[in-house]
Amino acid sequence: MAPVRTTARQKPDAVTVGAVEAARSALLGDVDDASDIGEHLGHEVEGERLVTHYFACARPGYVGWRWAVTLTRASRQRTITVDEVVLLPGDDAIVAPAWVPYRERIRPGDLSPGDLLPVEDDDPRLVPTYSFGDDPLDTDEKAQVRDVARELFLGRPRTLGPEGREQAAQRWWDGDGGPGSPLAQAAPDSCDTCGFLVRLNGPLAETFGVCANGDANDDGRVVALGHGCGAHSEVRLAKKHEPQPMPEPYVDDLAADNVESF
Ligand code: SF4
Repeated sequence: MAPVRTTARQKPDAVTVGAVEAARSALLGDVDDASDIGEHLGHEVEGERLVTHYFACARPGYVGWRWAVTLTRASRQRTITVDEVVLLPGDDAIVAPAWVPYRERIRPGDLSPGDLLPVEDDDPRLVPTYSFGDDPLDTDEKAQVRDVARELFLGRPRTLGPEGREQAAQRWWDGDGGPGSPLAQAAPDSCDTCGFLVRLNGPLAETFGVCANGDANDDGRVVALGHGCGAHSEVRLAKKHEPQPMPEPYVDDLAADNVESF
């Protein structure tokens, strides 16, 4: 571990900087096992007459951690006061990964039956159905609008906005149903000429449809019009791929009775 150096921001206080043994004693008073405390690594000047001394941590499982003992003293006093004794991770320490909220950890396919995944009020993918585009309402007003829309049976309170539509289109385009998938690259023809393609409504219909071929890998999925597969409705086998006709049957009527005996 690299030694800790005095910072240049503050003028070092000779008394607190030199109080290494006082810091070690304070540490020994706090740590159950003295063998957990290693060599003095250095100090850092935190402020006026305020210094933190660092000691290596020899405790198993704490590679790269260090004990930090912060000392101070009053003006014109030589008596040292211990402010704090803590164990801190150093640059090489093994620490737990940063906390990621549950909502951000969820990935497509993670939901199990019964799981709930609420959508935020200001989810940028959705806009109020009554106004497509900018949403001038704050959260309380949105809740009221949703209640009224529900009571009046006006249909869905929110609908996919431009951002949500673009995200979906990009995901589908880049996914297995897009034109760049291995299946599409090797397909004899594309979905836009296939009889099994079910057309969508709305802006996404210009680029996507749904495959309705029960024999195809993409049955029931959104596919790009430029996607395709070998189960295309108009695909025909080339002559060389067609099954060869069976030869005329040969009736073998040779039996013991037909053989002349010598
Ligand atoms: S069968 Fe194949 S080509 Fe036809 S719509 Fe489905 S994925 Fe597209």
